[in-house]
Amino acid sequence: VPLVVTADGTSLVAPAEGELAAHVGLSTIPTADFYDLVVVGGGPAGLGAAVYGASEGLRTVLVEREATGGQAGQSSRIENYLGFPDGVSGAQLTDRARRQALKFGTEILSAREVVGLDAAGSGRVVRFGQGSAITAHTVVLATGVSYRRLATSSLDEFTGAGVFYGSTVTEAITCSGEEVYLVGGANSAGQAAVYLSRYARRVHLLIRGAELSGSMSRYLIEQIGGIDHIVVHPWTEVAGGKGDGHLQQLTLRDVRSGATDSVDSSWLFVFIGAEPRTEWLEGVVERDARGFVITGPDLVADGQRPANWPLPRDPYHLESSVPGVFAAGDVRAASLKRVASAVGDGAMAISLVHRYLESQ
Ligand SMILES: Cc1cc2nc3c(=O)[nH]c(=O)nc-3n(C[C@H](O)[C@H](O)[C@H](O)COP(=O)(O)OP(=O)(O)OC[C@H]3O[C@@H](n4cnc5c(N)ncnc54)[C@H](O)[C@@H]3O)c2cc1C
Repeated sequence: VPLVVTADGTSLVAPAEGELAAHVGLSTIPTADFYDLVVVGGGPAGLGAAVYGASEGLRTVLVEREATGGQAGQSSRIENYLGFPDGVSGAQLTDRARRQALKFGTEILSAREVVGLDAAGSGRVVRFGQGSAITAHTVVLATGVSYRRLATSSLDEFTGAGVFYGSTVTEAITCSGEEVYLVGGANSAGQAAVYLSRYARRVHLLIRGAELSGSMSRYLIEQIGGIDHIVVHPWTEVAGGKGDGHLQQLTLRDVRSGATDSVDSSWLFVFIGAEPRTEWLEGVVERDARGFVITGPDLVADGQRPANWPLPRDPYHLESSVPGVFAAGDVRAASLKRVASAVGDGAMAISLVHRYLESQ
């Protein structure tokens, strides 16, 4: 396992992501060597950039290391995205965006991780893990953020076997009638708690502080307050876990007294913040201390442009320290970490791509 039987009856035993993608009709190999625009990352920012780029006539390729959707694709219900008064599932929203990008002619490569970026003259070279590369006039970096891991190593072996980071949608149904633990005090944790409560016997929400009000939107706190079988445990953290191939028991710790307690549970969902995974941009574009890509006016300090900046103008608003390379969405330093702002960044990046191309 996993065994995958595709629609045409082919059996794939423990397939690699690329092999699986190819069998379910997703492209993994670029059709050209050169594009106007490479978008790295297929979350809302990348899909936004692809839709606007391709619809405005740019030869656009989007490269995604897994499947399109990003964090938003993990969200069971997005309630605050403009135009959806009854909310929309993240998977539905991003699948529509993917189809829209394809309709306008974007080439989407799935299961391809980008591991390097070089500026070679006016070309921008994007390198893949498997050794090949594509070149373009411009690049939009839209690689978002990844969920932070719990510090306790005793849980490592249960990742995917009872312990899940930043996801609930696919696992929720398997938690039917069970006691489920969830770590985190922000909106993503609140949404997950509400969603899991439809299936679980009881959802235990663990927060290290005294209450949710400092970190979660009021509408979610109200929803949680109205669901009897969501129990909020203040001042509580996860200290460890045990199991035999699958999580079976958790150790909880009171952060004030240090006292610990063991509880039986096969399910732990973790939403404790996220960080950008931009190590591959080290030494190429300027990043802040946490790894977020610095853009536009934030690159100009005391009237000084970034080191090695070659042009007689300041970087455009979403432009990185390499001309023609832009950052959009959660990966950008000082971004808002919302679906709407990621999509907005993607759209704005394209108007700046045009400005860059016209000035070449
Ligand atoms: C559970 C959950 C619920 C949320 N709910 C809401 C909500 O209700 N409202 C709201 O406004 N926001 C919500 N958010 C936040 C919102 O989803 C994010 O702000 C948004 O998805 C950011 O979009 P992005 O495109 O910048 O990055 P992401 O969504 O993180 O997408 C980045 C993509 O890039 C890919 N990638 C990363 N590195 C590489 C690489 N090297 N090569 C190729 N591909 C790469 C990743 O696989 C990923 O698909 C939620 C987030 C989560 C996790």
